[in-house]
Amino acid sequence: MSGRPEQLFPLFAGLETLEGIGPKTAQLLNQSGVESPRDVLFGLPYAVVDRRRRDTIKGADMPTTLTVTVTVGAHRPPANRGGAYRIHVEDSQADFQLVFFHARSDYLKKILPNGSTRVVSGKLELFDGMAQMVHPDHILPVQEARDIPDFEPVYHLTQGVTQKTMYKAVHSALTRTPDLTDWVDPTYKAQEKWPDWADAIRTAHSPAGLDDLLPTAPARARLAYDELMAHQLTLALARMRDRKAQGIISLATGALQSRALAALPYKLTSAQSRSIAEITADMALPHRMNRLLQGDVGSGKTLVAFMALLVAIESGGQGVMMAPTEILARQHLDGLRPLAEAIGVVLEILTGRDKGAERAAKLAALKRGDIQILVGTHAVFQSDVEFHQLRLAIVDEQHRFGVRQRMELAEKGVAADVLVMTATPIPRSLALAQYGDMDVSVLDEKPPGRKPIKTAVVSTERMDEVIGHLRKAIDEGRQCYWVCPLVEESEIVDLTAAEDRFKRLRAVLGEGVVGLVHGQMPSAEKDAAMAAFQAGDTKVLVATTVIEVGVDVPNATIMVIERAEFFGLAQLHQLRGRVGRGTDASTCLLMYQPPLSETGRRRLEVLRETEDGFVISETDLQMRGAGDLIGTAQSGLPRFRIADLERQAALMAVAQSDARALLTADPGLTSDRGRAARVLLWLMRQDQAIRLISVG
Ligand code: ADP
Ligand code: MG
Repeated sequence: MSGRPEQLFPLFAGLETLEGIGPKTAQLLNQSGVESPRDVLFGLPYAVVDRRRRDTIKGADMPTTLTVTVTVGAHRPPANRGGAYRIHVEDSQADFQLVFFHARSDYLKKILPNGSTRVVSGKLELFDGMAQMVHPDHILPVQEARDIPDFEPVYHLTQGVTQKTMYKAVHSALTRTPDLTDWVDPTYKAQEKWPDWADAIRTAHSPAGLDDLLPTAPARARLAYDELMAHQLTLALARMRDRKAQGIISLATGALQSRALAALPYKLTSAQSRSIAEITADMALPHRMNRLLQGDVGSGKTLVAFMALLVAIESGGQGVMMAPTEILARQHLDGLRPLAEAIGVVLEILTGRDKGAERAAKLAALKRGDIQILVGTHAVFQSDVEFHQLRLAIVDEQHRFGVRQRMELAEKGVAADVLVMTATPIPRSLALAQYGDMDVSVLDEKPPGRKPIKTAVVSTERMDEVIGHLRKAIDEGRQCYWVCPLVEESEIVDLTAAEDRFKRLRAVLGEGVVGLVHGQMPSAEKDAAMAAFQAGDTKVLVATTVIEVGVDVPNATIMVIERAEFFGLAQLHQLRGRVGRGTDASTCLLMYQPPLSETGRRRLEVLRETEDGFVISETDLQMRGAGDLIGTAQSGLPRFRIADLERQAALMAVAQSDARALLTADPGLTSDRGRAARVLLWLMRQDQAIRLISVG
């Protein structure tokens, strides 16, 4: 398809083509991201004002907004400058006053001549025992009053733009709303009693009461679906492109995997076995694998990753595993190297720290194929890093790796299979929004023998007590993480907090017992601090959230998190997952600064009550909203204007299966419904998807 369909032109014209919008208003709206009549239409009202006509104000429960026909009586200009200009009016049974400040009397005489009949609408209130309406919203002769809707929609406003202007603009935009062939499955549409698109948009802008503002109102549900459908179509198109794209067939005999299993001191969980089988089967297919491995902290994703890497190696290729931090990359190296050596596989690390001759030597070995598995940070994807034959790329702990970045990675033409691993158990709706283009394997089971973690919520007022307990635990040979508050989005503040705590704990617990690790430390120091803790030389590790993901020290059985109320639930869950990895019982102390708000208390209690990451993330989503949950900026999560991810997960699931089904039946989007879907993509500005169609 070459360009935007003609029937959509009016919706994508300039704002000034709308009634009541001049260059100045257009500019104001532009600045807030409203650029076309389409954008005006997608800003649905968030409230509604009842402006149904009444015969009289008598019996009105003031203050209230009402609309009534009145006969205009005497004008009473203000006695002094800045005073109120009052106009006496009467309806069929009562009288009240219209009140104006700073109004020009000739203007008021013109619009409200003595003896005339007018419809006035506005907020009526009691003042000194007298009912009055200050600056009515509407004053119209009776025959023009039909322009006042019974229920007036209320819009979110851009500074400098009034409700009246928005209302007019919306109405003007509605007159050029084209009738579009429907992209919704007709059976589903009938079942849900959804209107056509144009009807839906008109209805959504003419709410006849509060019910019409609910996300479940048919018109709104339909428009939300459209938005989700467009997004899922984009993901489904990307998925189809990936599946069509020439991938590499990686066939393994299973010999390497068997040897690795034999070298392990434990058995795989059945979830691990299942995921390994799914991945191995997917890698054997000719398309490029694009798979998500989802598993709670401690569910054993690393081993699954390693088994997948062995498939790549046994097929004569190489694999790479990227971790988000240096610490994690080193931990993968330390954890996997013994296993790799035991079965004769060459594993190396590459991070930003590799420089000069050493780096060059590694790159050369990689290019020759002498290094079979490369682990590292994002340094492994730098442009001068060349593989002999890359068959599998694994991205670890990347819940912040968005749809767009993944698409970009794919657009680089990497033919290798891709496995993304995430420890953040995200709610289904978000998973669908963020990873809807991927196939998913789930580790829903933890290795046996884990003891539950005892979680307590404690006020900072009991700090001395906590430190006292800590001293005892250390004497018993236990180790502890101490995570410092994330007060602001500023490393500097974090740092001060962590350094202060470090000094205080060192003063109490003794020199050499306490270590410190934070994001701004030179990497060598960071490693040293981690290594000392891992070796058990230091007993307490004070840290900022750099330890959040993946770090594994089985002897650490205490986790203290200060100012826990500032953290997201998912993040707290991740942090807590650092303990409970050994055979000893573990404790997590969530410390808060009183007073704790009601919501704050409820949030922390969820953690005390469950260790199920999915339950926690669902709660987090409901309490905080989708954007905050992942951190909108980095999340890669699309922003929906109408759809509500928190409450419309089911609709998202419908959209995903619809999108996939439509593309299976009509991969070129050439049927009637397929062509309608193309129009939807244009309507929803899914540029990425449109490019995918033109390529495909
Ligand atoms: P995560 O999913 O959080 O990345 P890891 O891969 O780091 O989890 O595994 C956590 C710990 O569990 C590691 O110490 C690992 O050696 C151990 N582990 C992994 N699989 C099993 C298993 N099947 N049985 C026992 N321990 C296991
Ligand atoms: Mg991990």
